[in-house]
Amino acid sequence: MGSFQEMFDKMVADHEARNPGQSEALPPAAPAPHFRELAPVDSGVASAHVQYAFNPYQGASSNGAYHLILDQPLHAARLHRNAGDALCKPRSKFWGLERGNDRQTATCSVCLERAARYSIAVRTPA
Ligand SMILES: [Zn+2]
Repeated sequence: MGSFQEMFDKMVADHEARNPGQSEALPPAAPAPHFRELAPVDSGVASAHVQYAFNPYQGASSNGAYHLILDQPLHAARLHRNAGDALCKPRSKFWGLERGNDRQTATCSVCLERAARYSIAVRTPA
Protein backbone atom coordinates (compact mmCIF):
# COMPACT_ATOMS: atom_id res chain seq x y z
CA MET A 1 0.00 0.00 0.00
CA GLY A 2 1.46 3.35 -0.99
CA SER A 3 1.37 6.58 0.87
CA PHE A 4 -1.50 8.96 0.56
CA GLN A 5 0.61 11.16 -1.72
CA GLU A 6 1.24 8.24 -4.07
CA MET A 7 -2.49 7.44 -4.14
CA PHE A 8 -3.28 11.04 -4.81
CA ASP A 9 -0.71 11.27 -7.58
CA LYS A 10 -2.17 8.14 -9.15
CA MET A 11 -5.68 9.58 -8.98
CA VAL A 12 -4.47 12.71 -10.72
CA ALA A 13 -2.62 10.68 -13.34
CA ASP A 14 -5.68 8.49 -13.92
CA HIS A 15 -7.90 11.50 -14.22
CA GLU A 16 -5.60 13.14 -16.73
CA ALA A 17 -5.32 9.91 -18.71
CA ARG A 18 -9.12 9.81 -19.04
CA ASN A 19 -9.45 13.51 -19.69
CA PRO A 20 -6.42 14.50 -21.70
CA GLY A 21 -5.70 18.19 -21.68
CA GLN A 22 -8.69 19.13 -19.59
CA SER A 23 -6.68 20.07 -16.56
CA GLU A 24 -5.17 22.88 -18.58
CA ALA A 25 -8.39 24.11 -20.10
CA LEU A 26 -8.70 27.47 -18.40
CA PRO A 27 -11.36 29.96 -19.39
CA PRO A 28 -9.98 32.39 -21.94
CA ALA A 29 -8.53 35.47 -20.33
CA ALA A 30 -10.34 38.71 -20.89
CA PRO A 31 -8.50 40.71 -23.50
CA ALA A 32 -6.22 43.24 -21.88
CA PRO A 33 -6.73 46.88 -22.79
CA HIS A 34 -4.55 47.37 -25.77
CA PHE A 35 -2.30 50.38 -25.86
CA ARG A 36 0.24 50.64 -28.59
CA GLU A 37 3.61 51.85 -27.51
CA LEU A 38 4.40 55.45 -28.17
CA ALA A 39 7.55 56.32 -29.98
CA PRO A 40 10.40 56.50 -27.45
CA VAL A 41 11.27 59.80 -25.88
CA ASP A 42 14.24 61.47 -27.49
CA SER A 43 15.96 63.48 -24.77
CA GLY A 44 17.20 65.92 -27.38
CA VAL A 45 13.75 66.77 -28.68
CA ALA A 46 11.06 68.52 -26.67
CA SER A 47 8.07 66.24 -26.93
CA ALA A 48 4.63 65.63 -25.52
CA HIS A 49 1.91 63.04 -25.77
CA VAL A 50 -1.87 63.17 -25.62
CA GLN A 51 -3.84 62.56 -22.45
CA TYR A 52 -7.52 62.97 -21.77
CA ALA A 53 -8.79 65.29 -19.04
CA PHE A 54 -12.29 65.36 -17.69
CA ASN A 55 -13.71 68.78 -17.09
CA PRO A 56 -16.10 68.66 -14.14
CA TYR A 57 -16.86 72.35 -14.35
CA GLN A 58 -18.55 72.37 -17.73
CA GLY A 59 -21.28 69.92 -16.84
CA ALA A 60 -22.30 66.65 -18.35
CA SER A 61 -22.42 68.12 -21.83
CA SER A 62 -18.66 68.50 -21.80
CA ASN A 63 -16.62 65.61 -23.02
CA GLY A 64 -13.43 67.01 -21.59
CA ALA A 65 -10.46 67.54 -23.82
CA TYR A 66 -7.34 65.89 -25.06
CA HIS A 67 -4.29 67.78 -23.86
CA LEU A 68 -0.62 67.61 -24.71
CA ILE A 69 1.39 66.29 -21.76
CA LEU A 70 5.07 67.16 -21.68
CA ASP A 71 7.65 64.39 -21.63
CA GLN A 72 10.37 66.74 -20.39
CA PRO A 73 10.35 69.92 -18.36
CA LEU A 74 9.77 73.02 -20.44
CA HIS A 75 11.25 76.37 -19.58
CA ALA A 76 10.36 78.85 -22.27
CA ALA A 77 10.31 82.60 -22.00
CA ARG A 78 7.30 82.87 -19.72
CA LEU A 79 6.20 79.29 -19.49
CA HIS A 80 7.56 76.85 -16.93
CA ARG A 81 6.27 73.30 -16.83
CA ASN A 82 7.44 70.05 -15.33
CA ALA A 83 7.43 66.75 -17.15
CA GLY A 84 3.91 65.36 -16.87
CA ASP A 85 2.27 68.77 -16.97
CA ALA A 86 -0.03 69.73 -19.79
CA LEU A 87 1.07 72.61 -21.93
CA CYS A 88 -2.00 74.66 -21.04
CA LYS A 89 -1.73 74.23 -17.25
CA PRO A 90 0.09 72.14 -14.63
CA ARG A 91 -1.11 68.64 -13.89
CA SER A 92 -2.20 69.68 -10.40
CA LYS A 93 -4.79 71.99 -11.93
CA PHE A 94 -6.58 69.09 -13.58
CA TRP A 95 -9.33 67.15 -11.96
CA GLY A 96 -8.00 64.06 -13.67
CA LEU A 97 -5.74 63.14 -16.50
CA GLU A 98 -5.56 59.77 -18.09
CA ARG A 99 -4.21 58.10 -21.12
CA GLY A 100 -6.70 58.55 -23.88
CA ASN A 101 -7.48 56.82 -27.10
CA ASP A 102 -4.24 56.26 -28.97
CA ARG A 103 -5.75 57.50 -32.17
CA GLN A 104 -6.92 60.71 -30.63
CA THR A 105 -5.19 63.94 -31.42
CA ALA A 106 -5.09 66.83 -29.01
CA THR A 107 -8.21 68.97 -28.93
CA CYS A 108 -7.09 71.61 -26.43
CA SER A 109 -6.46 74.74 -28.44
CA VAL A 110 -4.07 76.16 -25.85
CA CYS A 111 -1.97 73.00 -25.83
CA LEU A 112 -1.90 72.88 -29.62
CA GLU A 113 -0.98 76.53 -29.95
CA ARG A 114 1.88 76.25 -27.44
CA ALA A 115 3.19 73.05 -28.98
CA ALA A 116 3.44 74.89 -32.27
CA ARG A 117 5.01 77.96 -30.71
CA TYR A 118 7.65 76.04 -28.76
CA SER A 119 8.33 73.42 -31.44
CA ILE A 120 7.24 70.51 -29.29
CA ALA A 121 6.98 67.22 -31.11
CA VAL A 122 3.86 65.21 -30.37
CA ARG A 123 4.64 61.53 -29.94
CA THR A 124 2.12 59.22 -31.51
CA PRO A 125 1.95 55.41 -31.54
CA ALA A 126 4.12 53.82 -34.18
ZN1 LIG B 1 -4.56 71.70 -22.72
